[in-house]
Amino acid sequence: MTVTDEPMTYAIPPPPPVTLSIEGSEVVFPVLRVFCVGRNYAEHAVEMGHDPDREPPFFFMKPATAVVPNGGRLPFPVATDDLHHEVELVVALRTGGADIHADDALGHVFGYAVGLDMTRRDLQAQAKETGRPWDMGKGFDRSAPIGALRGAETTGHPDAGAIWLRVNGELRQEGDLAQQIWKVPETIAYLSTLVELRPGDLIMTGTPAGVGRVVPGDRLHGHIEGLADLEVEYSG
Ligand code: MN
Repeated sequence: MTVTDEPMTYAIPPPPPVTLSIEGSEVVFPVLRVFCVGRNYAEHAVEMGHDPDREPPFFFMKPATAVVPNGGRLPFPVATDDLHHEVELVVALRTGGADIHADDALGHVFGYAVGLDMTRRDLQAQAKETGRPWDMGKGFDRSAPIGALRGAETTGHPDAGAIWLRVNGELRQEGDLAQQIWKVPETIAYLSTLVELRPGDLIMTGTPAGVGRVVPGDRLHGHIEGLADLEVEYSG
């Protein structure tokens, strides 16, 4: 490594950081990575054809560039005939670490938001059948609309409370954070045994039952008690 006083010169303009807004604040939260928990509510595990027994959590990722801060009007995703909604509690980490103990995990949390783990279910199903990665089903462009963060100093650390999603005003998904199989501290602790977590990491903590299809022109409204709502509209 060369040590120099010269500022770094990039071959191309460096990509700007992806950020989330923070409710009531001018500053923004820089996003490093997006980890997602699979099957974390028993009823959703059953609807996807799995036994909801308490097997260890599993994770997949979306690139940070998939994040759409504050939702809004989005183009309908390419390459799918079966786009699905999954409303989820998003945890934003202010500090990282490896082998974090569950008792210490919440001290690493900056705050919480409502997110959508948008899924090209047809591509995910093909990947499952063929034993291939889920990335193109889960990590596509604009696949992670996320609302404004609410800081833990304001909201505390929610472990219960309503979570729901309406599509065009109709209730599609409904559950309670208390139904999560793996609670937020356990999820952080387990994930930190697999990778060293870092400041700016997000964790999408799984979706309650009721996932379903989204078509062009649909308006999605996600809600978690105590957090800022998230609204997304797909162009027709
Ligand atoms: Mn999900």
